Amino acid sequence: MNAGFGVRMPGNYAPMYGAIPEQKQLKMFKNKNSKIEEIVKSINNRIEKIEKNFFLTNLLFSSVIYKLSIKNINNMDKKFWVTDKCNSCGVCVKVCPVNNINLIEGKPVWQHKCEHCLGCLQWCLKEAIQFGKSTAKRKRYHHPDVKVQDFMN
Ligand code: SF4
Ligand code: SF4
Repeated sequence: MNAGFGVRMPGNYAPMYGAIPEQKQLKMFKNKNSKIEEIVKSINNRIEKIEKNFFLTNLLFSSVIYKLSIKNINNMDKKFWVTDKCNSCGVCVKVCPVNNINLIEGKPVWQHKCEHCLGCLQWCLKEAIQFGKSTAKRKRYHHPDVKVQDFMN
């Protein structure tokens, strides 16, 4: 990798935390515009740099958690499950970037080639998809400019 940047997100990892309220998200996006412009400029100028985040964050996520979880990442979908709220709409199937979900008898079944992006969980409009025991009460997140129809073609 020749370039890398850190962008703080409003809350896209539901197994650990929920998303922040919409008002705060909008404020955050507004503040991020200058950062995005900086990234675009850097890429256009083909500057090779890997942006460093806080030392401890790097150490924890890149060196410890990443290395521990990457070996088993495809099978981490064994922790997904679906509640009775599922209405068989199929959005989770369309959203998954690696075709890891089949609808069987109207319910999602994960195929163990997951990349753990959590798109299915975040985009289920019924909030029917859960991961382990901790996500039921956590607020979902997706960018306000992206609509579910964008995935449905
Ligand atoms: S997106 Fe949610 S409601 Fe739709 S099929 Fe998947 S789990 Fe069910
Ligand atoms: S977490 Fe991402 S890759 Fe895994 S099943 Fe859900 S959408 Fe697909």
